[in-house]
Amino acid sequence: MSDISIEQVIKLLSAEYGRRNWQRQQSPISVLVQTILSQNTSDRNSGQAFEQLLASFGSWEDMADASVGAISHSIRAGGLGVVKARYIKQALQEIRRKRGDFELGFLGKLPVDEARDWLRQLPGVGMKTASCVLIFSLGMPALPVDTHVFRVARRLGLVGSRVSVEQAHRLLEGVVPPDDVYRFHVLLIEHGRKICKAQRPRCKDCVLRMLCPSSEEFVAK
Ligand code: SF4
Repeated sequence: MSDISIEQVIKLLSAEYGRRNWQRQQSPISVLVQTILSQNTSDRNSGQAFEQLLASFGSWEDMADASVGAISHSIRAGGLGVVKARYIKQALQEIRRKRGDFELGFLGKLPVDEARDWLRQLPGVGMKTASCVLIFSLGMPALPVDTHVFRVARRLGLVGSRVSVEQAHRLLEGVVPPDDVYRFHVLLIEHGRKICKAQRPRCKDCVLRMLCPSSEEFVAK
């Protein structure tokens, strides 16, 4: 772990992209289904698939009782298929079996790790998906580490080269103040998309350049 200041990273990125404050989004169950749909695909595709899914089924209840084929048919517009359809059906059925309905607000009263473990027992739900549900719908300090967050955090030296994406979730949560977790997550994604790109990071244009241990490596190329 480098001695780079998280506070400074957030300050510089906020000055560049704007202050990002958490706002309540959709219900936990909506975020869960949307995030399962978004795994390994573009936001555009998964957004389209989610809209189709909602339009095809009147309720979560109907979706849970629908066949995998019917769910798969409804999300095909987004190029998504049978694996995600199966995860969605199984996850909904499992939630209903355990809770009697699809209300997941109770997770907000649990400690982050406990709430995340509960979600991770569902089919198709890993660290990232579970963390997305907790942070976006409930405002909990769970930090989803997607490809952008992982890459930028690595280049900044916030996670070591041998740390897995899975491990990076808890490691980063340990150093980012709880009140800044949401901001840190969205700012790193924005920075990863615009400047600290996978193939050719634009270090010369980067506001973190003075802090970043990787800048010389890329500027020299
Ligand atoms: S200096 Fe380069 S490698 Fe470091 S965060 Fe900025 S773009 Fe990424």
